[in-house]
Amino acid sequence: MKKTILQQIQGNDPLVENPRNVVQGTVAGFTVSVMFGAGNGTSWRVVIDARPGAAPPAYPMDQFLAEMRTGLKKVTSAVYDGKRMEVILGTSSQAGLQIRSILDHAASYLVQNGYVPCCGCCGEQVPTRLSSINGYMDFTCDACYGRLCQSLEANRQQLKEKPGNMFTGIVGALLGALIGGVLWVVIYQLGYIAGIAGLVAAVCALKGYEKFGGKINKAGIAVSLVIVAVVIYFAQNIGITMALQREYSRYGVDVSFFTLYGAVPQLLEESGTTGVFLKDLLIGYALTALASFATVRSMLQNATGAYKTGRY
Ligand SMILES: [Zn+2]
Repeated sequence: MKKTILQQIQGNDPLVENPRNVVQGTVAGFTVSVMFGAGNGTSWRVVIDARPGAAPPAYPMDQFLAEMRTGLKKVTSAVYDGKRMEVILGTSSQAGLQIRSILDHAASYLVQNGYVPCCGCCGEQVPTRLSSINGYMDFTCDACYGRLCQSLEANRQQLKEKPGNMFTGIVGALLGALIGGVLWVVIYQLGYIAGIAGLVAAVCALKGYEKFGGKINKAGIAVSLVIVAVVIYFAQNIGITMALQREYSRYGVDVSFFTLYGAVPQLLEESGTTGVFLKDLLIGYALTALASFATVRSMLQNATGAYKTGRY
């Protein structure tokens, strides 16, 4: 029977999957974590914690890693910082076997060159546990984990106490959203529904709020996104008006922009295209929401210092 990726990675070592998508345990006594879905789901991250022993390594680590990088095409990065070896490799159907091969080679290199197990954070030879800081996995000792949690909490408190001004924030959001709105009109003239302009509007509005208001919070994000929705609505109307105006002038009819703008709802209804207008607008909103989701989430995390930690 074909082995699963987990079985391929495990080999004969006491490795388990915990939490999901993370394989952890020890290989030749060294703590190992293999994480799937690093770098937005496109790669694997393999970490082995070890530090040089009393005698200096006979074969240089740099050379060992350089050989790994050239030997395995999928390996995009292989580095060592004195206590933690980190290898990043792209996903492929061979990933499981390649990771197993990396673990075998690394373990035998480390053993032969007198490396010893250690905490991947401070390098001390103390017991460690797999710890997660905002989804970033590593084996750390209790002292290091406590220190990391403390500094995250201090950062969150500091951000919480930082003063913010909602009024200037809204001004910033409006200016930012207008940049996206202009882009929306331009792209609309080219005949596209401007989801990308929606993203620009959302990002610029959020950044604008943060820049002008001093900081952004949940309320600030909500207000900014409402502003974006309103600006996009007007941008869509302006886009249609400009298209109509061009159409009219082709037939030699000169109508002022504002007269035409005011008549858009009526014109749409008369021509039976109100549905099309609404559909375009909704698709535009949906594209904007889709495109900005990740940005909004990470901005909220950065702005509030929200964090997630855990030990496995
Ligand atoms: Zn430590």
